Amino acid sequence: MGPTPYAAARMDPKTTHPDTIAAQALGWIDEHTRAVIPPLHVSSTYLRDPDNQYRSGRVYARADNPAFDQAEAVITALEGGHQTLLFASGMAAATAVFQALAPGDHVLAPQVMYWSLRNWLMTFATGWGLEVELIDMTSPAAVQAALRPGKTALVWVETPANPLWTLTDIAATARLAHAAGALLAVDSTVATPVLTQPLALGADIVMHAATKYLNGHSDLVAGTLTTRAPADAKAAAHWQRVRQVRSQIGGTLGSFEAWLLLRGLRTLPLRVRAACASAQRIAEHFQGHPLVAQVLYPGLPAFVGHEIAKAQMEGGYGGMLSVRVAGGEAAAITVAAHTALWKRATSLGGTESLIEHRASVEGPGTPAPADLLRLSVGLEHADDLIADLEQALARAHA
Ligand SMILES: *Cc1c(COP(=O)(O)O)cnc(C)c1O
Repeated sequence: MGPTPYAAARMDPKTTHPDTIAAQALGWIDEHTRAVIPPLHVSSTYLRDPDNQYRSGRVYARADNPAFDQAEAVITALEGGHQTLLFASGMAAATAVFQALAPGDHVLAPQVMYWSLRNWLMTFATGWGLEVELIDMTSPAAVQAALRPGKTALVWVETPANPLWTLTDIAATARLAHAAGALLAVDSTVATPVLTQPLALGADIVMHAATKYLNGHSDLVAGTLTTRAPADAKAAAHWQRVRQVRSQIGGTLGSFEAWLLLRGLRTLPLRVRAACASAQRIAEHFQGHPLVAQVLYPGLPAFVGHEIAKAQMEGGYGGMLSVRVAGGEAAAITVAAHTALWKRATSLGGTESLIEHRASVEGPGTPAPADLLRLSVGLEHADDLIADLEQALARAHA
């Protein structure tokens, strides 16, 4: 990758708060125009020097694109990482981690995880030759028992994990994985770098569906991978293959999406903290409610995994919760049918709150109970969101 066309970053991420890093995108300006917001770079190709060299370091936009520089640098700073790569989607980012392994490698993944990735692992990845084992990732004993030293190449963790928000202890899992010679990758989409720093806890790679909180406005699809400084030659070789997967298979983000993502990142800490505060209020309000069988939220002291969440999440427990509706599947679907503010849609992490009957999306084999509604808390006033759910629950139970 060539030098950035922008002035050097004006702030040291090690001594600057995340809010400041995000708000000013590391303080970069365009030295050429003095613009405080970067231009939109759309070129697909770059000029070769007359002596046949490529001193800019850029050849072709499937591999390198100046449109990525600022967003990648800001995410690297927020994650406390070494390098970030943008991808065309969260799935393109996640699958690159596995495609960079070799057929025959053994990998561990959680039984409760993002549904599309689990599907891909059990079909394409398995067909291609990875040996995929789904385990109870919340149990260090289960991780220890499943690891095969020398054979297990990667452990994949998602925490809190869709759609039950189960917690995995990243530091403990990293120690076990590394002792067996395996890499640890964490899907931190729900926690965001505002609440959890997987690399500082020992993970080798952190992945985000930037479609969700990092962008935060439900207007693009993108993914990211951030690595820590590779711990050894094996980790370095794996990251090098991840780079090749992006540039050769071509799951490359578009320039406009990268530009929009940088805009969304500027408000990430504010948005995440607001969503956390509302989610906590909503969870507490509906816990013990006569029309609700159970509220699943890491911020509730009664929630299994709350202690792990308390130890590895800082500043809040996320904007995602699930509600099990009294009366079963039909009642749950009826509640979703009667919300007005909560929009019936998949995805999460936008400014607008979303509600979803998760078992209908995931289909047979889902760990989501039939009475479960997944809620993504947006930036509306929590009182309005509570009132809307209250009236929908009342109508479903009328
Ligand atoms: C959405 C999501 C993904 C996939 O991201 P896409 O951008 O939709 O491909 C992966 N993991 C989690 C936790 C997600 O919520």
